[in-house]
Amino acid sequence: MGHVDHGKTTLLDYLRKSAIAAGEAGGITQHIGAFSVSLANSDQPVTFLDTPGHAAFSNMRSRGAHMTDIVVLVVAADDGVMPQTIEAIKHAQDADVPIIVAVNKCDKPQANPNRIKEMLLKHSVQVEDFGGDIQAVEISALKGDNVDALIENILTLAEVLDLRAPTDGPAEARVVESQSEKGRGMTASVLVKNGTLKVGDIIVAGTTWGKVKSMTSDLGKPVKEAGPGDPVKVAGWKELPNAGDLALQVETEALAKEIIANRAQRVKQQKALQDIRVINEKRIQHNEETQEHNAERKQYAREVYRYYRGLRKDYPLEEQYLTKPSVPDPAEVAHKQQYRGPPTLRFVVKGDVSGTITAVVDALLALPQKKVRLEVVSHGVGAIVESDIQMAKSCEAMVIGFNVKADRTVQRVAKYLKVPVETHRVIYHLIDAVKQRMLDTMEPEY
Ligand code: GDP
Repeated sequence: MGHVDHGKTTLLDYLRKSAIAAGEAGGITQHIGAFSVSLANSDQPVTFLDTPGHAAFSNMRSRGAHMTDIVVLVVAADDGVMPQTIEAIKHAQDADVPIIVAVNKCDKPQANPNRIKEMLLKHSVQVEDFGGDIQAVEISALKGDNVDALIENILTLAEVLDLRAPTDGPAEARVVESQSEKGRGMTASVLVKNGTLKVGDIIVAGTTWGKVKSMTSDLGKPVKEAGPGDPVKVAGWKELPNAGDLALQVETEALAKEIIANRAQRVKQQKALQDIRVINEKRIQHNEETQEHNAERKQYAREVYRYYRGLRKDYPLEEQYLTKPSVPDPAEVAHKQQYRGPPTLRFVVKGDVSGTITAVVDALLALPQKKVRLEVVSHGVGAIVESDIQMAKSCEAMVIGFNVKADRTVQRVAKYLKVPVETHRVIYHLIDAVKQRMLDTMEPEY
């Protein structure tokens, strides 16, 4: 990783060339988003993730950092620590991936590696020369100077970090990139993390799956198996997996399909939950606005009332009526209220079985309703859920649960929306509670 023009492509090209030279003749290299390099005197290959360096791929690069064990931070010695250098450091730190610094372009006369190391200090990258434990290797990607030393440093760090993975057990791989190819169908380059991936294996990634039809190495050779650290292109997907997805080997096609169905369902549910959340937020906002609006109206009514009282004192009755503005007379409102009929208590009833719900509703509606009217706006089987609270809120009802409960979230919503919730296990208690509510609702008689 590193800033644009600092030499990532040149370094990868140099490494790839040496990889091809080390590979068997006749292989046609493939761009699969990753490739392996072996040092001449070592049998340990190092796999490089070959992600694009443009700013637009920031996202992808952060995924790259999550996919790798080590980040090689390329910084041009004739330039310095630049925005994308800082971004790369951040990605590596976020992903908790150790860094090796490749101070590049050291062949240039104006190269000043020490200045780079000093600048890196400011971004909490403390190299060995400055008493830290991060290695910095001065290289020329163009000429290949010291690139061997860079690889050696990578291998040493891998050893120090004890980076190892089991080769047995179900395969686990990261999707690097995927594409639909003529003649091969849906393919995806993957980097095996654990286990050994074999032709014929069934794998699941995100919400797609596949049966490994064929695998191709970065050198374009067909392979039958791929172990930890091996990059391979896998054909046989039903649909394209997403870059960054974890591909897991599973036992059977049936299991793969079940997992996919579950995940798809979960995605759907999450979307639905998100929708509900948005609706709730809107509703809460609407309620707040309504409350504000009501408060304003009350304030206005109070002012009008004061105005009238003032008028009543100072003016003869006729004049009051002549100057009467088009707002209702508070006295008139009070008069109307006296004749508007009994108040109504509304209910949303939930119960454990439909039989008990009927019993509860019947018992409720059998109560005398002369002074307070009772109305069941909705009833249903099951626990008290958010939609019950919302329904109650919109009808100015209360929620009654018989042998069912409201979980903590639902209780919080109810409290927030000021919706009364009563849960009971004994029908007489329930009826008593409702009677008490009726008494509370009744207008005082003087
Ligand atoms: P990237 O954007 O990080 O991939 O950078 P490139 O690899 O495209 O390099 C940008 C420019 O710097 C190219 O013209 C390279 O030839 C040049 N360059 C890269 N590495 C070196 C180096 O080690 N020495 C010199 N002199 N030039 C280099």
